[in-house]
Amino acid sequence: MTFATLGLIEPLLRSLETLGYQTPTPVQAQAIPAVLAGRDLMAAAQTGTGKTAGFALPLLQLLAMEGPKVTANSVRALILVPTRELAEQVHEAVRQYAENLPLRTYAVYGGVSINPQMMKLRSGVDLLVATPGRLLDLFRQNALKFNQLQTLVLDEADRMLDLGFSEELANIYRALPKKRQTLLFSATFSDDIRLLAGQMLNDPLSIEVSPRNVAANTVKQWIVTVDKKRKPELFVHLMRKGKWKQVLVFAKTRNGVDALVEKLQGLGINADGIHGDKPQATRQRALDRFKASEVQILVATDVAARGLDIEDLPLVVNFDLPIVAEDYIHRIGRTGRAGSTGEAISLVCADEVNLLSAIEMLTRQTLKRQSEPDFEPEHRVPDTDASGQVIKKPKKPKKPKASGGGGKRNLGKWVDSGEVAPAEPSIKPVRKVPVFNTGPRKRKP
Ligand code: AMP
Repeated sequence: MTFATLGLIEPLLRSLETLGYQTPTPVQAQAIPAVLAGRDLMAAAQTGTGKTAGFALPLLQLLAMEGPKVTANSVRALILVPTRELAEQVHEAVRQYAENLPLRTYAVYGGVSINPQMMKLRSGVDLLVATPGRLLDLFRQNALKFNQLQTLVLDEADRMLDLGFSEELANIYRALPKKRQTLLFSATFSDDIRLLAGQMLNDPLSIEVSPRNVAANTVKQWIVTVDKKRKPELFVHLMRKGKWKQVLVFAKTRNGVDALVEKLQGLGINADGIHGDKPQATRQRALDRFKASEVQILVATDVAARGLDIEDLPLVVNFDLPIVAEDYIHRIGRTGRAGSTGEAISLVCADEVNLLSAIEMLTRQTLKRQSEPDFEPEHRVPDTDASGQVIKKPKKPKKPKASGGGGKRNLGKWVDSGEVAPAEPSIKPVRKVPVFNTGPRKRKP
């Protein structure tokens, strides 16, 4: 199969040739003809599968071939994305695909001045990539009109809900013309997403190019168990032992990112960090320098987990496991992209056993464990498996203190007695923000 047989026009085929795309990926093979035929779409596609081209190519073709010329402050196609970085990245891909078409494209997002964005929108934009908050600001300040809107794309829809954008989505949705084409892309499909799809889509075609909630099988994954306080030391040890060149590291909190970056820089290691507290320009610069291999270790919160396309990234390290299990899939999706192989290593301490169990249940696999000599944890990480069970071993009855000691060294919370207890109930699923909830917004990572 070729892009030409999918019905793409010559100016797009020329762009693809320049980019070196020879064969459509599975999501492209399914999405392109459906979007060209005007269908709504509900697509479950893993990150790194080529989904951006899957929706952007047919969208650009429809914009070039059909519909009236864009008028002042109007937009004909809107792509909503959860983060600023993703807005930049998707727009860059769109710009490359649209190279040979007479279309105006643009990206708007928060964290930067709104005035240049308002100026740019004055003459109208054929295709706009936007984050939900800034889009609403622009709409409320009359810098944007939706009367010409023919297509809406929700990219990384699950992430938008995780980040608490359900209220913004509901407000945007109310402002859009009812008659339009809607494409919904999500790496994972929770019940909330299905509900959102039910409200927004009209007789959608469902596309599922990979089994639900399974991480790319091109990524070799394992965990190293360690005590929490020794994680930084273990990281540096593994880095030196494995001669790691370029690594994307995920930490749970902004403070965690800063502390690790400081430690690495203190050791003379070329590291930088990105998280939600840093100005957008600083975040983008760190990312650009990492992509250009000018920074060796980039430490990030989950704000960087989605959609970032870094060519040939060989390794992702979860310094902390993510709170939301789905984020594990997105994090490790930064490596092993478009058919190349990658590795994902997670440093796991005893406190994180429930998070580990949730990840194994979601990805339906038991992650291979490895303990590093000299770093074996004092607080053992209980065994887990893909059924979501934490295999807790019963504690030995405590010996009375008066007996004078001489017992085994305390191994921490879980004392090995050789006998396996009945399985504990699996961990509760992490609660997500309900669709179109009007409650307060969650803090972004
Ligand atoms: P995405 O999942 O959209 O973020 O795309 C992942 C990567 O695959 C990007 O670097 C794309 O440029 C690349 N890509 C997408 N489609 C193709 C294709 N058909 N052939 C080669 N590379 C592709």
